[in-house]
Amino acid sequence: MLLSFVLGIFALAVGLFFGNFGTSFYYRIANRMPINGVGFNDGIPPHCSTCKHPLRFYEYLPIFNWFSVKGNRCNYCGAGIDPVYQIFEFGVGLMSVFNYFALGLGGKYVLMTLFALCALLAGILFYRKIAIPEHLVTLIGFIGLSNELMYNPKPLAIILSLICFGLLFILGPLKKASVHDATSALNYTGAEISLIVAIVLPIYVSIPLLVLIYCLYKQHVIASKYLYLIGLLSAWLFAIL
Ligand SMILES: [Zn+2]
Repeated sequence: MLLSFVLGIFALAVGLFFGNFGTSFYYRIANRMPINGVGFNDGIPPHCSTCKHPLRFYEYLPIFNWFSVKGNRCNYCGAGIDPVYQIFEFGVGLMSVFNYFALGLGGKYVLMTLFALCALLAGILFYRKIAIPEHLVTLIGFIGLSNELMYNPKPLAIILSLICFGLLFILGPLKKASVHDATSALNYTGAEISLIVAIVLPIYVSIPLLVLIYCLYKQHVIASKYLYLIGLLSAWLFAIL
């Protein structure tokens, strides 16, 4: 009892650090900045997104950053801090705790916590910026494929996963083309065929595919946001329960 409580706290800490790491992706990917804070030649240390003042370690570490800023404002310029950072950090922490109690601390826990991080990050980027980096979609697909290979090694599931994973690479260029010609017959046909394939696919691989399909239909952005949220939550629950 005591042990599972201590390990639950450990899972929360792991999730908070994952989430904290994810917030820098959220900010840096959207602003086309290098991901690394220290090391290498192009590293940019953690800083305020408004005044660019470098942050002390307790101003960006998980939990500490919630209490070291006064009234959720920057300590240097007073600009309000977007609550999305804390919500995201806490969200990944909470999902990590659920993953631990459902799966223990094995390989599947690691995969599902990575899935939580990537899927939440994609969701927030989708809500706020109406754009998801293709590398992130590919990574979610890769996590889904790894999960199928390791924990559900049925030949049909693996073959369908590989087909769907291949479609992700085909849909990338299609999405780019749709910026110039949103109603091209090719986009619609590709999206519709993929949609049919996605419905029968293992659910993790289907989600990034469905997100890409709805990105093709720019006019359905609101509907696709809700679909993404429902898909994410159901995929995660199906995996851990
Ligand atoms: Zn500032």
